[in-house]
Amino acid sequence: MIRDRQALDAILDTVRRFVREQLVPREAEVAETDEIPAEITAEMRRLGLYGMTIPEEYGGLGMTAEEEMLVAFELGQTSPAFRSLIGTNNGIGSQGILIDGTEEQRRTWLPRLAGGEVVGSFALTEPDAGSDAAALTTTAVRDGTGYVLNGTKRYITNAPQAHLFTVMARTDPEVAGAGGISAFLVPADTPGVSIGPRERKMGQQGSHVADVVFHDAAVPAANMIGGPEMEGRGFATAMKVLDRGRLHIAAVSVGVAERLIRESVAHAVARRQFGARIADHQLIQAMLADSRAEAYAARTMVLDAARLRDDGERVTWQASAAKYFATEMVGRVADRAVQIHGGAGYIADYPVERFYRDVRLFRLYEGTSQIQQLIIAREMLREHEA
Ligand SMILES: Cc1cc2nc3c(=O)[nH]c(=O)nc-3n(C[C@H](O)[C@H](O)[C@H](O)COP(=O)(O)OP(=O)(O)OC[C@H]3O[C@@H](n4cnc5c(N)ncnc54)[C@H](O)[C@@H]3O)c2cc1C
Repeated sequence: MIRDRQALDAILDTVRRFVREQLVPREAEVAETDEIPAEITAEMRRLGLYGMTIPEEYGGLGMTAEEEMLVAFELGQTSPAFRSLIGTNNGIGSQGILIDGTEEQRRTWLPRLAGGEVVGSFALTEPDAGSDAAALTTTAVRDGTGYVLNGTKRYITNAPQAHLFTVMARTDPEVAGAGGISAFLVPADTPGVSIGPRERKMGQQGSHVADVVFHDAAVPAANMIGGPEMEGRGFATAMKVLDRGRLHIAAVSVGVAERLIRESVAHAVARRQFGARIADHQLIQAMLADSRAEAYAARTMVLDAARLRDDGERVTWQASAAKYFATEMVGRVADRAVQIHGGAGYIADYPVERFYRDVRLFRLYEGTSQIQQLIIAREMLREHEA
């Protein structure tokens, strides 16, 4: 759903110019230094990009899913690390509070998340609980008026910068699996919370992940997302958060694919072999055509799922299908982009080499491709049995 076409077009135009004029020229520098310059972070705050999905009453832009996806298509046109900086505040780092938080939790945190003064992070994965997240073992033990957390969370995006963690922890050790898990808001400066060293990654330099360790970290009972009646329902909160996040990752994958296709066409037109532009060789054309057809299919899936969601429908399988297809698609498109560039595609001077590594992550986090397949099939069987 698009609330106001003109207002949205103005935002899309601003984001497009920001990407083209300020982000694309600094991609190589960010990849080299593993840091996003402070002036870019400041500009993202000024543009309201930290709060795209947060409702206007809490200081955000209040975008519908369709509007958010259209912006994500634009942000995808540059290094995914830039998107990752604002990704957690718009997605996994804020949506738990928005969807299941108490009004007081919303008023306390959402305006600061929307403005980017607070960076939110989402801590579900553990060393021994990844795809099987419901097997997590971090504990939150009731102690007087609050809870004491102990455990280790792994590969947490934006952990080194974060001020606030949404943490899934087991409040009931007697209940195995999802039922014993609750969600907590844990400020990063809570005594007993420590952040591990930044992981060295395959790609997306400039975006940081690290362990978050809880050692007797005490939080008030009021920090349980949704209050005491939500005890044991934190896993359901996490799954709702991931539903929207998956569509966003699919949209970013479409954006990156479109950028890679542009890079591929430009190279194919500029490069000559056998006395002709390589773009005139039909086997190159086939690769370009396959990439465009697949990117178009993914774009259409993302928009369809976003519109259904805006209409109030449950889009669990559609979000998984879009994430599964779009992230696998951008992997194929990146591979073809390297192929079209020939040896140059393997050389770090060309953006396609970097994007080839960057996009690999999309098939892994917020549920691997295999987990998306399982969700789609589970929903199919559920429909059949209903
Ligand atoms: C850069 C990065 C950022 C991340 N950010 C965050 C974050 O902010 N917050 C957070 O909580 N987590 C985050 N993660 C963790 C991420 O979500 C997990 O890595 C991911 O869910 C996979 O879990 P795993 O790594 O333990 O792999 P595993 O679960 O060990 O999976 C290994 C392989 O087994 C397959 N597999 C597992 N179970 C099945 C099954 N039942 N059927 C078929 N195949 C299966 C998987 O698909 C995969 O191919 C991040 C990870 C990375 C790398």
